[in-house]
Amino acid sequence: MNKHYDILIVGAGHAGAQAAIALRQQKFTGTIGLMGNEKYAPYERPPLSKEYLAGDKPFERIMLRPESFWGERDIELLTGHRVAKVDPMGQQVTLTSDEEVGFGKLIWATGGSPRMLGCPGNQARNIHAVRSRADVDKIMAALPTTENVIVVGGGYIGLEAAAVLTKLNKKVTIVETLDRVLSRVAGETLSRFYENEHRAQGVTIELEAMVESFETNDEGMATAAKLTDGRMLAGDMFIIGIGIIPETGPLVAAGAAGGNGVDVDQHCRTSLENVYAIGDCALHSNPFAGGALIRVESVQNANDQAKVAALDIMGEECEYNAVPWFWSNQYDLKLQTVGISAGFDDCVVRGDPENRQFSVVYFKDDKVIALDCVNSTKDYVQGRKAVVEGLELDRKELANPEIPIKEVGLV
Ligand code: ADP
Repeated sequence: MNKHYDILIVGAGHAGAQAAIALRQQKFTGTIGLMGNEKYAPYERPPLSKEYLAGDKPFERIMLRPESFWGERDIELLTGHRVAKVDPMGQQVTLTSDEEVGFGKLIWATGGSPRMLGCPGNQARNIHAVRSRADVDKIMAALPTTENVIVVGGGYIGLEAAAVLTKLNKKVTIVETLDRVLSRVAGETLSRFYENEHRAQGVTIELEAMVESFETNDEGMATAAKLTDGRMLAGDMFIIGIGIIPETGPLVAAGAAGGNGVDVDQHCRTSLENVYAIGDCALHSNPFAGGALIRVESVQNANDQAKVAALDIMGEECEYNAVPWFWSNQYDLKLQTVGISAGFDDCVVRGDPENRQFSVVYFKDDKVIALDCVNSTKDYVQGRKAVVEGLELDRKELANPEIPIKEVGLV
């Protein structure tokens, strides 16, 4: 290849694609290479566990931009390449194919690879992740011969996949290690609500359960998941949704500071000269987490960090302080979240979960820090200001869903 780009973006997901788009929007005139290890042009990832898996949206409809867009903007799409080594001083990367690509500035936007189970039987062909189009295409191809699905992990990926597969008349069992689903991202009210909804739809949920190994047959297929308590859960498809491992190996090997992700400052700069990191792999101090160092796995974070990196490259003053937001669709439930609820010390529930329309408002030190809104878009829209400004809202008024959030008084 032996090429050189003024900006080389490694990772062609939401973050990488948005960085390229933002640079051109900022009138950047240099060369841009957008490199991805998948063979497809950039596409949206959230639908993979939703409409794409359900067969409701074909791939063309989840592409981030039409195929022709990149060429028209002079963004060179480099698909099917993986970076093995980064040389920050020499300003070049080496690909797994041994080719070298030079850069003026590097934007690392590699996201993460799905964490899989490291237990016996884990290589079976019917154990799937839900991270890339290829993962989901394999799942979809196997659906006609699938009846029983075991989903490992009760996070959003696991729950969304469970919802789609249940709609497709599969018998689904969720295995979650902790004592409730969604424990990493939400309070107990939301967890219990989603557990009840899934159970009402026929899903079996095994909490405090852990897979010890997979039983496999002669064809290399798993036939059951064996739990640590000795129980066997028979299945003909196994889906693993237990989070991601940030893809930061080559950068860390090159000396970038980091651990669980690559450390970046408020401009998305890493500790290496001329190297930025954005999206799921970027460990940053987030003002909506009280300044804690976190990675945020969301489209919002990918897009907003991409814009910050692009502006910084253009010499514009810009710091990352965007409010986090997220959504999840399961059955006919639309969840919208704003803020980060982790570390909350109180919460108020607006409306009755029984009615399938309610919001949970999270507080820390008397200030609103986050909302989880189920079928309550109005609360989501109006609650945003409370999160951004850390308002001290009157909890009694807030608990009354008849009072719009924007009319709730301060204490
Ligand atoms: P994702 O984005 O893949 O949904 P999350 O981290 O949000 O990732 O959720 C993963 C869920 O999987 C968490 O609820 C976590 O407790 C659960 N989990 C993690 N490891 C295991 C495991 N080995 N078996 C079952 N559940 C697990």
